[in-house]
Amino acid sequence: MKRVEAENYDILFGMEAYQELGDYLNKKEYSKIFILTDTNCYDHCLPYFLGNLPTEIPFEIIEVEAGEEYKTLETCSGVIQTMLELGGDRRSIVITLGGGVITDMGGFIASIYMRGIDFVNIPTTLLSMVDASVGGKTGVDLEGIKNCIGSFVMPKMVVVDVKYLETLEARQIKSGYAEMLKHGLIFDAKYYDYLKDIANIDFNDIEILIHHSVVIKNSVVQQDPKEAGLRKILNFGHTVGHAIESYYLTQEDKKTLLHGEAIAIGMVVEAYLSTQLTGLSFEEYQDIKNCIHSIYGIENIDEEDYVGILDWLKFDKKNSGGSIRCVLLCEIGQAEYNLEIDKELVERGLMEYSK
Ligand code: NAD
Ligand code: ZN
Repeated sequence: MKRVEAENYDILFGMEAYQELGDYLNKKEYSKIFILTDTNCYDHCLPYFLGNLPTEIPFEIIEVEAGEEYKTLETCSGVIQTMLELGGDRRSIVITLGGGVITDMGGFIASIYMRGIDFVNIPTTLLSMVDASVGGKTGVDLEGIKNCIGSFVMPKMVVVDVKYLETLEARQIKSGYAEMLKHGLIFDAKYYDYLKDIANIDFNDIEILIHHSVVIKNSVVQQDPKEAGLRKILNFGHTVGHAIESYYLTQEDKKTLLHGEAIAIGMVVEAYLSTQLTGLSFEEYQDIKNCIHSIYGIENIDEEDYVGILDWLKFDKKNSGGSIRCVLLCEIGQAEYNLEIDKELVERGLMEYSK
């Protein structure tokens, strides 16, 4: 069985992982298991998961609505209320079964329930397998501000089983692919080169690629678990990407972009900023832009939306003393953090993106 050793926990790959999960739960003698899932995963993932979980510990299933708009404190209080009613105590454990919304929110709930109980992540989207379920960042949104309430807390185990991807829509697969491209762009030029032509990817080998992404993310996190410095590079594309995601999430009459789709646009814009500030070559910028356009199409960002998007930059968690800080590339495969940027440049980047 493939395994990546992380900060006091393991990320396990494949079917054999369930036996190890069962052994772990039995050994720790948890009083109760709360399986947190959403409406889609309840249908597509839960029956398979329950069929593979070797434990006699009693469990309860808590199902929440699917979607980023439910990654909120309100949903958390509802879940916590249910856990209390169902007899949850300090020896209970939360198992998250879902995408990044569920792993982020379930980890957060576990970290505050009775001042903190254990949790295990079972990611069911590509995005949560390669990124969200690993590394110990948990959180929820407040009025559209991404992840501004949350905690750093490590899961006890992560089980990556690509079987779940069989029911995931193609659009969601591509959304997760954006985080994999990010791993290549910030850390591993060869990996990016391999990924950039998606037509050449054999999705039968997806576990190997997920494993590679997890190794990259884990090695960055282990050097800086609480994001004092180096870990910031994992936010490449996210300063502008989160602003775009939040803007569309809160505009009722507009389309919504998936997290990875917004991050893909964010990576192109931030690559443009990198040509201006950190020496990324124009050829490399074009290469990144062509790659994103070829995978995601060119999402039309109306000029009338620019001001609204730029306004969300002020909520970025990397900002410091009122200035907007960003992760930029000096070349493909190498990132720098704490670069100060201004709105005018970002606006130029947004214009360049659609050209
Ligand atoms: P998601 O959790 O909303 O899942 C996407 C959709 O797929 C949902 O509708 C879900 O119900 C459905 N789904 C999940 N698994 C399925 C399956 N196997 N079959 C069919 N449908 C399935 O979104 P996501 O893209 O997984 O995660 C995005 C979230 O992750 C964002 O909130 C983002 O901020 C967060 N994130 C966190 C970190 C971190 O380090 N904590 C990193 C990256 C992203
Ligand atoms: Zn992300």
